[in-house]
Amino acid sequence: MAVIGLTGGIGSGKSTVARMFGALGVHWVDADDVARQVVEPGTPALTRIAEHFGADILQADGSLDRARLRTIVFEQPEERAWLEGLLHPVIREELIRQLHPADYSLPYVLLVSPLLLETDQHQLVEKVVVVDVPVEVQLSRTMARDDNDKAQVERIIAAQMPREKRLQKADEVVDNNEVLSNVERQVGELHKKFMVAFG
Ligand code: ATP
Repeated sequence: MAVIGLTGGIGSGKSTVARMFGALGVHWVDADDVARQVVEPGTPALTRIAEHFGADILQADGSLDRARLRTIVFEQPEERAWLEGLLHPVIREELIRQLHPADYSLPYVLLVSPLLLETDQHQLVEKVVVVDVPVEVQLSRTMARDDNDKAQVERIIAAQMPREKRLQKADEVVDNNEVLSNVERQVGELHKKFMVAFG
C-alpha cells in the first residue's frame, strides 16, 4: 500500500483537504496528533521525560507541561537533542503503525504533516501533495481561525519552508485559493489518479 504525504504551510488547508479525502474513504494520519499522543499520560515516553527532567515537568493532572518543556529545550540545546533522540523513533514507529490499519481496502493512505519536507518524515511517503495558497490567504485564514495577531502568524510562516521551495518538491498541488466545491473537485481527481496508480 502506498503512503502519500500531504503538506502545506500553516493555515494552508491541510486538515480541510485531508477531511475531503476522508469523505472518499481514504485513511489519513495527522503527524501533529501522533506527536501529542506519544506523550499522553501513561505512555513510556512521558515516564522517561519525567525521570529525566523531574516531576516538575508534569502538570497537576499528570499531563506534560509543554510550555515548560519548550522553555527548557529552547535554552539548552543538549536537552533538545536528548528529547528529539527519545521522541523521534517513537513518533516514527507510531506513525507507521497508524498508517497501516487492519481491514483497509484502498491502495493508498495519507500522512498529513506540516513538517513533512523539513523532517525525515518524507522518507515514509511515495508522493508529496502540497496544499497551496498565497501567503496573504494563509495569514488571513490562520488569523480568523486562531485569533492570533498578524506578527505572530508572520513569524511562524517565516520559520517554515518558503512557498516556492515547497512547490518545487510537490508531485501534486491542490490549489486551495478556491471555493471549497472547487477544492473538492481537485481532491476527487487526485483520488481517481491515485486509485489507478496504486490500485
Ligand atoms: P494548520 O497548519 O495550522 O494546522 P491547516 O493547513 O490544517 O492548518 P486548515 O485548518 O484546514 O489548515 O484551514 C485553515 C482555515 O482556513 C480553517 O479555518 C479552514 O476552515 C479555512 N479554509 C480552508 N480552506 C478554505 C477554503 N478553500 N475556503 C475558505 N476557507 C478555507
